[in-house]
Amino acid sequence: MGIKFCSLSSGSSGNCQYIETDRVKILIDGGLSGKKIERLLSSIDVCPTTIDSILVTHEHIDHIRGVGVLSRRYDIPIYANQSTWTRMERAVGEIKAKNIKIIESNEDFQLGDLDIHSFKVFHDAAEPVGYCIYHKNIKISIITDTGWVNDNMKSIIKGSSLYLMESNHDVKMLKEGNYPWYLKKRILSTKGHLSNFDAGKTLSEVLTGNGEIVLLAHLSKENNRPSIAHETVRECMEDYGINVHRDIALDLTYRDRPTRVYTL
Ligand SMILES: [Zn+2]
Ligand SMILES: [Zn+2]
Repeated sequence: MGIKFCSLSSGSSGNCQYIETDRVKILIDGGLSGKKIERLLSSIDVCPTTIDSILVTHEHIDHIRGVGVLSRRYDIPIYANQSTWTRMERAVGEIKAKNIKIIESNEDFQLGDLDIHSFKVFHDAAEPVGYCIYHKNIKISIITDTGWVNDNMKSIIKGSSLYLMESNHDVKMLKEGNYPWYLKKRILSTKGHLSNFDAGKTLSEVLTGNGEIVLLAHLSKENNRPSIAHETVRECMEDYGINVHRDIALDLTYRDRPTRVYTL
């Protein structure tokens, strides 16, 4: 077996991604209640007692809600950088010292047969990161919650077999929608969330069109529609000469259900 990936849930109501190899099972973020994450895991036939580690991207509640509960219930180590630990300490509650794992952004570490690389993203949190996960010749990149993607980030994620990329909002829907002005400004800022168009542009610049899997993530309930996100990204890619149906697999993630389990 190679590596399995499933987005258990994605969006402002809770983010949780699952990765599995022969040797390890990890979660990236645990932003739903412990109970909900247990239920989502069992819906893909994974027992929560078998989760080896939880990696945290940043301290916003939609990424850490169930992290403390799961760590206490199943004795799971939590990995995050020091700034994130400081900010999330109170929200996650008491964690056994041995389960507090402090990582440095831009440094690699290993979990079983996975190599993990975290890198800084642009978001209004202490030290938010994205992750590249390597297993043999396969690479998975995860970027949610970033206001923009710079050239350095693009070069870090390039060459992945699977991209989980934020496609948060349609700019027109956000601008014309009901959100208060300060919130619109926050989301549109370089430390906010990535628009459908920016997701499409970023992906187009890193894809080679050799069958990569692309999952659009963290879609806003109010300022986006799955069909609009998909269409905007598809059009953008086609401007770059990528034929979405022939060259890659472009899929969505969901706030209320898991994706299928991808095997790479
Ligand atoms: Zn978020
Ligand atoms: Zn956030």
